[in-house]
Amino acid sequence: MAKFIFITGGVVSSLGKGIACASIGKLLESRGLKVTFIKCDPYINVDPGTMNPYQHGEVYVTDDGAETDLDLGHYERFTNAKLTKDNNITTGKIYYSVICKERRGDYLGKTVQIIPHITDEIKNRIKKVTYSKKVDVVIVEIGGTVGDIEGSPFLEAIRQLKFELGKNCALNIHLTLVPYIKSAGEIKTKPTQHSVGALREIGIMPDILLCRTEKKLRKEEKAKIALFCNVDIESVIPALDAKSIYEVPLLLSREGLDSLIVKMLNLQCVKLDLSIWNERVIKKLKYQDREVKIAVVGKYIILQDAYKSIYEALNHAAIYNGAKLVIKRVDSEDIEKNGVKKYFKDVKGVLIPGGFGSRGIEGKIKAVEFARENKIPFLGICLGMHTAVIEFARNVCGLKHAHSTEINKHTKYPVISLLEEQKKIKTKGATMRLGAYDCRLLKNTFAYSAYNKEKISERHRHRYEFNNAYQKIMEKSGMIFSGINPEKLVEIIEIQNHPWFVACQFHPEFKSKPDNPHVLFRDYIAAALSLTKEKK
Ligand code: GLN
Repeated sequence: MAKFIFITGGVVSSLGKGIACASIGKLLESRGLKVTFIKCDPYINVDPGTMNPYQHGEVYVTDDGAETDLDLGHYERFTNAKLTKDNNITTGKIYYSVICKERRGDYLGKTVQIIPHITDEIKNRIKKVTYSKKVDVVIVEIGGTVGDIEGSPFLEAIRQLKFELGKNCALNIHLTLVPYIKSAGEIKTKPTQHSVGALREIGIMPDILLCRTEKKLRKEEKAKIALFCNVDIESVIPALDAKSIYEVPLLLSREGLDSLIVKMLNLQCVKLDLSIWNERVIKKLKYQDREVKIAVVGKYIILQDAYKSIYEALNHAAIYNGAKLVIKRVDSEDIEKNGVKKYFKDVKGVLIPGGFGSRGIEGKIKAVEFARENKIPFLGICLGMHTAVIEFARNVCGLKHAHSTEINKHTKYPVISLLEEQKKIKTKGATMRLGAYDCRLLKNTFAYSAYNKEKISERHRHRYEFNNAYQKIMEKSGMIFSGINPEKLVEIIEIQNHPWFVACQFHPEFKSKPDNPHVLFRDYIAAALSLTKEKK
């Protein structure tokens, strides 16, 4: 039977609960256990697919086409867990299914209530991830902070579940902040005491406290937290700020976290083996002796989380290539205002990520033009591919004002147009072309040399595609269609006579891992670095 770890957060948000869960998963997996994850998000949207990145950050897409919380990205990057739509639960999903059941008459005669109907639905969905696959440990992250009104049904559900599962079958881990107050020169434990107090009020007793702190915790401070929060001193685990998120599993292990979990859950497992992670990631983090500066041109540039997987994938590739990544975030609207040169003087690569709508689009097209003409390595993703195609059509093929029908419905040259299957779709939620699709690669291309195989599968999230009516004219002018889907959709384009210029319809960033960077990102950064060498 699978065991469960429930992780809640206290004091403030953004303490890195997702990274903590992913790190715990990594540690348990490195002890030979099979782990999976669930993220519970207390908002009423059924999924984050309809939210603006400024509201929510990136929407992470799984192989089965679920639009999910970005924490699932952390879980997949740190571990081998294969996540699906079942691994992200939202209040919206829970209520939607309970209300459908009510309308169907499944609860005939009863008053449908938060307890037990909503909480039962949550419990059933948490348990469901253990049915089909063999799993040893399920790590369940409760989004938000203890005390949030909307989070309470989830907290009540995990309280009940732990009770029902019985001894040694479930653990509560509470991630909290232990701030250092500079002016007083002291570490403060009171916020943690309050946060644990709030948990106790609803019947949850934390078994382990993960204390985010910038200073080392002394024995006395640990003892104080233990005494007032009712946990053993060995269960007060400091989670010190790390230089890289990928060091967190090691730091937590050094504090004894994995041994403690194994003991408390009575898990049968082997000794911790992090050798591959150490070799491929941690050691390499120490030898980043050169820099690679990449311009990411988008419109959600201010928010760190909007292009999370892209930044991580770039970082993985930089680590692999022995370089330190410097990201220059460029707002494409600024390019429209101030011209492109100013922003790209010192960059070794240009990347245009996915996106929606017309704001800043001309700035992105200018960025593509600059990268193409100045032979700067270029990677375009989804909308980034669309802008690459539009730029080529306009400036190389002479198709003046060519555009995507997403931006201009009446363009004379619709080089990007709505997917056939999308034409009849009227609703917005989960209706894009989503998830994994196959693609065949053409030999002797950048794409083929990266993947080194003919058949690949990548994840998608879009409604518009390359318009095949323009394939011939573009090909004549030097565009290469290096990846084509079995249904004839263009998945990858590249151009000749350029050090590295690739754009793809899919999102390679979702499959990159720190110890196994995505091959497109790997080769892109390698190209950017060789440009650095040439220019020296
Ligand atoms: N807006 C474009 C489309 O829907 C691109 C989507 C994306 O970049 N994820 O096709």
